[in-house]
Amino acid sequence: MNRLERMRQRMQEDKIDAYVVLRPENGRYLSGFTGGEATLIVTLDKAFLLTDFRYIEQAKEQAPDFEIVKTGHDHFLTLVEIGLQSKRVGFEGDFITYSDYGKLRQSFLQSELLSLPSFVNDLRSIKDEQEINLIRQAVRIADDAFAEVLKTIEIGQTEQEIGLNLEFFMRRLGANGGSFEFIIASGNRSALPHGTASPKQVQAGEFLTMDFGAIYQGYCSDITRTIFLGEPTEKQREIYALVLEAQRAGIAAVTPGRTGKEVDAVARKIIEDAGYGEYFGHGLGHSVGLAIHEGPNFNMREERVIEPGMVVTVEPGIYIPDWGGVRIEDIILVTENGCEVLTKAPKEFIILE
Ligand code: ZN
Ligand code: ZN
Repeated sequence: MNRLERMRQRMQEDKIDAYVVLRPENGRYLSGFTGGEATLIVTLDKAFLLTDFRYIEQAKEQAPDFEIVKTGHDHFLTLVEIGLQSKRVGFEGDFITYSDYGKLRQSFLQSELLSLPSFVNDLRSIKDEQEINLIRQAVRIADDAFAEVLKTIEIGQTEQEIGLNLEFFMRRLGANGGSFEFIIASGNRSALPHGTASPKQVQAGEFLTMDFGAIYQGYCSDITRTIFLGEPTEKQREIYALVLEAQRAGIAAVTPGRTGKEVDAVARKIIEDAGYGEYFGHGLGHSVGLAIHEGPNFNMREERVIEPGMVVTVEPGIYIPDWGGVRIEDIILVTENGCEVLTKAPKEFIILE
């Protein structure tokens, strides 16, 4: 079954006549159109892709299963012209703006509108072979860029320079760009789980956390490595070893049939039992694909069950204010019996002199 067929099967199950797609990743997933600026309407027997004159030729080429409709500035006016008689219309309630919702309401005056935010994301959560191959490439680019950047890091360099080098290596290795704003956080800043690269210089005696990833043909990778500059103390070694132990246990716990909550609990328990539970304040991981953060997750609330074909990160961390922090993140592919770790960058404590 292709993606559109899977979508329609799901629509029939949920008794939806039409679904309006605005989120670019969802549009790309269903149609193949990479232009971003499109509205898709999928019914049980038709599929429209609405876009403006800049993208018409590209859309015809990339989205052969869709009828391409040229729009003006307002896609919703075109919806009225198409004149679909739909009873129940789904849309991405987590993405549409308040003003666009008003227009959508006007376009479907006779219809029941249903906010079904995870409708397409649920399809996207199980990756097909083509997607897995692209993610593998995005991961490999990030792994190789990490190996390259390690050779260039020096005391006195700024976090921003390190981030720039990482991006340079990734692009030279074929990335279309970075998959998010990199986190490059050293010393006390490594206690900031989302400390983006700053002008701070890296110093001896500090952790350096690098969280980054590549986009390759639309697909994201996401990796974190924490390294050390100079000579670590006993406690610094101990915290690194603890996060690594939790990360390995989290990976070992990934098995189809378990929930995201159960996997999170396995890694979290190791950190809690060592007395650092309060310093691990985020979820264990998230799915990755066309977007850097997708569902399902590994966290304390995730009830969804793990299935083969999901691609998820495992990224525990310990962040101690005014002291520093460690996070280690890999991407895994769920298999029939467990998982395959896609990230190949080394995880043993890397200490640069
Ligand atoms: Zn990350
Ligand atoms: Zn992540």
